[in-house]
Amino acid sequence: MKLTVLMDNNTYIDRYYLGEPAVSYWIEEGGKKILFDTGYSDAFLYNAQKMGIDLGETDMIVISHGHNDHTRGLTYLAERFDLRGTPILAHPHCFDKKKYGDQEIGAPFSREQMSELAELRLERGPVRITERLTFLGEIPMKNDFEPMPEIGIVHRGEKVIKDNLTEDTALAYRSDDGIFIITGCSHRGICNIAEYAKIVCGTERIKGVIGGFHLFENDTRLSRTVSYFKEQEIKHFYPCHCVSFEAKAEMSRSLKIEEVGVGMELEL
Ligand SMILES: [Zn+2]
Ligand SMILES: [Zn+2]
Repeated sequence: MKLTVLMDNNTYIDRYYLGEPAVSYWIEEGGKKILFDTGYSDAFLYNAQKMGIDLGETDMIVISHGHNDHTRGLTYLAERFDLRGTPILAHPHCFDKKKYGDQEIGAPFSREQMSELAELRLERGPVRITERLTFLGEIPMKNDFEPMPEIGIVHRGEKVIKDNLTEDTALAYRSDDGIFIITGCSHRGICNIAEYAKIVCGTERIKGVIGGFHLFENDTRLSRTVSYFKEQEIKHFYPCHCVSFEAKAEMSRSLKIEEVGVGMELEL
């Protein structure tokens, strides 16, 4: 598997790509080209072009969750490319309308609009994308230190309820020596995701994680997360996107962390 960071909050010195507080990864695995999340603006299109990546060759789009820093780029992708026939794999609640105060924070298209533009595939998961790469689908929340996320409200059918990000998910890549997890924001908890990936992949070993872990404060959630990954003897730890400097500094006291930035390539 090869993963290229098309969009992240961070950019590297002397590499002139665009950054924004958002996520988009290009994944080449088992003969397939997968676009995981689409960032917030059209900047990921610019970055991809500059990297020599042709997004017109996308075999599948996978969306981690509905928030617009992961989905709004779909607007620009659909303007640039004809997505009819391209599968978009996501949880059934991914395209529900979301609000935080007065602000719209969900996907730019409704389920109906999206299925007119592309081949929408909504699954509670898990879904095997290639022999080694799996879309995890709905993440069971099992532990006691990653509390139920509630960010604004979501329209669910006739109802408007507090949004606990039911749709939030990740990808798990089964390598020869353990699971590598690719996540968007980990609203459901990165440790919950890792534990579920073990069950889905049928192996105990977590080799690496990349993505947003939604950790900002130096609190119990952070310390328990650090202890968890220490216990897992994790080899490749790439916290980015929604991980604060304070959280990364704290993590780096016990774990070897890697700096993620736009243009980073990761080969497993
Ligand atoms: Zn989010
Ligand atoms: Zn995010």
